[in-house]
Amino acid sequence: MQKAFPACKSLGNLNYEKLWGFLDADFASEVHYCEKCYRVFPNNPDVDTCRECGGPRYKAGNTINRAKQACASFVYANVERQLKNLLQSPGIWDDIKRNKSQILERHVDTPHLITDITDGRIYRELLSEGGFLYHNCNITVLMNTDGLSLYSSSKVQLWPVFFAINELSPSLRFARENIILASIWQGKGKPPMQQYLGSLCSVFNNLYDAGIVVELDNKETSVKVKVICGTYDLPAKAAVLNMTQYNGSESCIACEDPGKVVKQGKGHCRNFPFRENNDKYPERNQDNVSLCMLNSTPNSRIKGFRGESALLKLKDFTIVSGSPSDYMHGTLLGVVKCLMNKWFSATESKSNYFVGNHLKIISKRMNSIQPPQCMKRLPRDLEQNYTHFKATELQAWLLYYALPCLCGILPEIYLHHFALLSEGIYMLLSDHITNENLRRAEGILSKFFQDFCDLYPQGNCGLNVHNIGFHYVDYVQLLGPLWA
Ligand SMILES: [Zn+2]
Ligand SMILES: [Zn+2]
Repeated sequence: MQKAFPACKSLGNLNYEKLWGFLDADFASEVHYCEKCYRVFPNNPDVDTCRECGGPRYKAGNTINRAKQACASFVYANVERQLKNLLQSPGIWDDIKRNKSQILERHVDTPHLITDITDGRIYRELLSEGGFLYHNCNITVLMNTDGLSLYSSSKVQLWPVFFAINELSPSLRFARENIILASIWQGKGKPPMQQYLGSLCSVFNNLYDAGIVVELDNKETSVKVKVICGTYDLPAKAAVLNMTQYNGSESCIACEDPGKVVKQGKGHCRNFPFRENNDKYPERNQDNVSLCMLNSTPNSRIKGFRGESALLKLKDFTIVSGSPSDYMHGTLLGVVKCLMNKWFSATESKSNYFVGNHLKIISKRMNSIQPPQCMKRLPRDLEQNYTHFKATELQAWLLYYALPCLCGILPEIYLHHFALLSEGIYMLLSDHITNENLRRAEGILSKFFQDFCDLYPQGNCGLNVHNIGFHYVDYVQLLGPLWA
């Protein structure tokens, strides 16, 4: 029987209550920065003008309880305390110990099988003799940040930064109560990411070097923490890595492909054409990335970099392998959503792949399917809601419903093409990925990329399709299945 994959969740799916709860009293600290040049102000509250540009620190005449209000600030939670509380919560350390011993057994019994992030090459190296995880009590985390609109109509955004502990079993790892909320920024647009993440990197460098002392199994135990990767959608990723936006030249963090400017409608856009092996651009590595970062500025970019990223200061962190392509935004909310719009949207009615006039039948077929109990409920009615499908619904559509619902309606060449994506992603989402599966997924996703350019207007073949076709399999080898 088909296996049901876990619901697709971003770490950002927390409620506001939890988000603001951590701001209580002594749980958080506020760091002020200059609104004009983003320089962070020193702790001393008497410094009220920016050393760099003379910009003001406080809002004029605006005080709460006689305290001056900062023009701009980041709010940081006490990560050490959250970690300590979490590790000491009932059942958590037992789960970590159980999971760790299973990982070790698995690596001996099935050295090439990938079932979780802990089977990826990065984790295996950390576990080997002399590695960071060779010491039994150390743990690793995964980072995530994304902008959330405060109200659906407002431009005010919240940018929380979250961490999840990789050693927890998946159901506990992504549970709301076990996610570390490290900081929040609120404002219009995006936070000045390098300054915002800079302070967090110092916190995590300390957790990497000195660690924290936690009472585990009635014993004071020192636990060190290492960040191994971060996931973000493409715009957030460009901001975090201090790179050109995804529609700019050399905007891929895994390779130096410049892409190509092509005509789209009345304007132009950048696509990333398929390339044969001997025609591919070089892959990036840590040395080359840090060299480019250190020598570039926003006005003189080098290979897509606009200057240093805060992540360069994160100890023992490898930027290229630690910045995997984000499956939820890239595949589901990116490519799958884009293809549904192509097939169903009235503006495409002159295209070969347009089947929007059959939406009723497709919808009826889907509603007649009775999924087994182990699966989450059906996506909402397709005809009414496909433009608002959430990631979990798009995943169900990609993996289970699209092919039988579109069979005999979508021209065969497009249906077969979509089947490549469906099968390739299905394999990379499994919690039992063999070497053989990886090679097969690599072949079919590369074919998906190659044919995409021929079947759809070339302007649609952007960085998301490039990542699926060229980089997903590599990142699965490094960091485990897509869901992890
Ligand atoms: Zn300033
Ligand atoms: Zn690339």
